Amino acid sequence: MTTRTPRILVLGTGGTIAGAGSGGTGTAYRPGGLSLEVLVGHLAALGLAAELVPQEIARIGSQDIGWDEWRALHAACTAALADPAVDGVIITHGTDTAEETAFLLDLTLPTHKPIVLVGAMRAADAVGADGMRNFANAVKVAGDPAAAGRGVMLVMGDAVLAARDARKAATSAIDAFRSFPRGPMARVTPSSLDWFGPAHRLGEGARYGFPESSPRVAILTAGAGMDEQPVKALLGIGCKGVVLAGMGQGNAPASVIAALAEAAASGVPVVRSTRVDEGIVDRNVEVDDDALGLVAARALGPAKARMLLMVLVANGVTDARRVQAAFDGG
Ligand code: GLU
Repeated sequence: MTTRTPRILVLGTGGTIAGAGSGGTGTAYRPGGLSLEVLVGHLAALGLAAELVPQEIARIGSQDIGWDEWRALHAACTAALADPAVDGVIITHGTDTAEETAFLLDLTLPTHKPIVLVGAMRAADAVGADGMRNFANAVKVAGDPAAAGRGVMLVMGDAVLAARDARKAATSAIDAFRSFPRGPMARVTPSSLDWFGPAHRLGEGARYGFPESSPRVAILTAGAGMDEQPVKALLGIGCKGVVLAGMGQGNAPASVIAALAEAAASGVPVVRSTRVDEGIVDRNVEVDDDALGLVAARALGPAKARMLLMVLVANGVTDARRVQAAFDGG
């Protein structure tokens, strides 16, 4: 148990939680308009039992995040994990791609200290802003020794979601995130934290090396009546992997599936996920994955399937059986 006040590194990247310029009731605002120092200052004024150490990585809308920011976040988290004076890490992040950053870090960092992403759906100066509450909740989680051994987490709307399960499901509602296939790991408020189960990844090291390269992996969304030309175009620009956001259980018109099978046969791994909001994509349902060399995304939606495939390709894992094993793993 930590007996002293927890020391938490706060890595800022921008997003609505640091959004400003809404004028209280306006719609437009600038994500990342507020500096991390100011944001952390607002929180410190609440008198939470934690020492917060801010470090700004970026001040962007998370639609613009990429390998430079991910590399910086990974390096800062790695340093914090090795520093005995740091108990946990919070990353303030835009909600558009929070699930991608959270999952990338989840795949490439060990689990022995809590790492928590947090965002907001309303700008910091908007009426009814949710950012300070979410941030206070994140402090509660990152400062709890029982939060270690659970992988990277996302705190939004009084819930703690596992990185692998979290998904943005609403464009502007406060209750914007869903957790699939597992529900939330905990409920949290600024003064309470209830875990629904024991830490399931205690002592786990990083699952994969952080990508040295940034392989181009594309998501292709299936639509009724489409043909195979988009698959050919993706291979033409040098994609090293393709994620199909298919219909239903990862389906697409026959010519598209045939072109994807050709890609797989040429050594470009192809993962079938679904454009449907939620559900498992299983192997060999309507598409003969065994015969065509394709991979089923299981519970991962297209955005997270792409992230896992990029990590796998960067780590030299392209064989369909090994890629499938990574998608099967919890
Ligand atoms: N598009 C911006 C971002 O993801 C704002 C959305 C948000 O943070 O909720 O950073």
